[in-house]
Amino acid sequence: MLDRLLPRRRSVGVDVGGVTVGGDAPIAVQSMTNTDTADIEATTAQVAALARAGSELVRITVDRDEAAKAVPHIRDRLAAMNVDVPLVGDFHYIGHTLLAENPACAEALAKYRINPGNVGFKDKRDKQFGAIIEMAMRYDKPVRIGVNWGSLDQALLTKLMDENQAAGSPMSAAEVTREAIIQSALLSAEYAESLGFGRDKIILSAKVSAVQDLIAVYTGLATRSDHALHLGLTEAGMGSKGIVASTAALSVLLQQGIGDTIRISLTPEPGGDRRQEVKVAQEILQTMGIRAFVPVVAACPGCGRTTSTVFQELARDIQSHISEAMPVWKEKYPGVETLTLAVMGCIVNGPGESKHADIGISLPGTGESPAAPVFIDGKKAMTLRGPTLAADFRAIVEDYIERRFGTGQASDAAE
Ligand code: SF4
Repeated sequence: MLDRLLPRRRSVGVDVGGVTVGGDAPIAVQSMTNTDTADIEATTAQVAALARAGSELVRITVDRDEAAKAVPHIRDRLAAMNVDVPLVGDFHYIGHTLLAENPACAEALAKYRINPGNVGFKDKRDKQFGAIIEMAMRYDKPVRIGVNWGSLDQALLTKLMDENQAAGSPMSAAEVTREAIIQSALLSAEYAESLGFGRDKIILSAKVSAVQDLIAVYTGLATRSDHALHLGLTEAGMGSKGIVASTAALSVLLQQGIGDTIRISLTPEPGGDRRQEVKVAQEILQTMGIRAFVPVVAACPGCGRTTSTVFQELARDIQSHISEAMPVWKEKYPGVETLTLAVMGCIVNGPGESKHADIGISLPGTGESPAAPVFIDGKKAMTLRGPTLAADFRAIVEDYIERRFGTGQASDAAE
């Protein structure tokens, strides 16, 4: 299992509706809907789409009574569609009331997410936070204590700022803020445990939107606690900016073994595909060699030696063929997600890179003879040419998958 290649920080495993987060479990991919939860049809459809894309947990907003009342219906509809992904309820301000007044919602959710910065203020804070923990104990649900610096506990921040000033300001304001974020998570977990809530029911997160702050905060959390950690860069942004920022931050932490579940908080284009956050999360884990989700296609960037678009078209063709075939392949060919392919543009790096992949093809660059050698398991197996090249390469890939991952594979191995 690729998941074991990197040493992981030891954390207490938490069962979230049948999916373990932390402990020895693989790092889980999660996502969040952006539909109005009260719109049962739209939310069910989006949860199902996210789950089918590979999201192992899906969080939904529970912001008002109509949303809370919709949750059990969404759960039922998903069950009728054979989608059993655990649903996480995202609560702010009135979570204690919504859970108390909607027992079917409290039951249908697999986990509650609460933000200690806006669960209530002054003397109401502990009372309302405690009420949610009591609900979690009553329904035997885990909780994510999710701190976000956009809604950081201001009383705690002010206290730490005052203490820092009284001590001659040994820390910068940024350092005090990071410390307040860490303490908000740790003190909230401590309080929950003082109420009798199990350590194996608590997941922590402490999201910020700046990469260096996120790395510093999670490194601090990881060294000061053994709670399972949910990683994510909050408000990462749109398009490549959001992807790059999230990848930069999470990669540093994952490389240190920090993080038990991840979510990529991308801002979608209007009408954009919400599943992109699942795809990016999977690609981060797979690119780092932590988990495998889908066969990887290595393709060269092309250069002045590729004056035709043949190799770009072939790379795209094989990539989309994989995406379309994966739902069936996953069932039919266990382990197919570890397959590696290479589609290369010319003889300079083509044969070499192709030999490193399970199957590679080196297309002819400018001035080369119009033939494409195919390498299988590091050895040249055949040469393709002509207008059926793309279809022929797809057939070779299909045949290889059948032989290596199909049902005949076990008996071959036994021979
Ligand atoms: S393999 Fe060939 S075509 Fe691709 S980038 Fe390298 S030199 Fe250019």
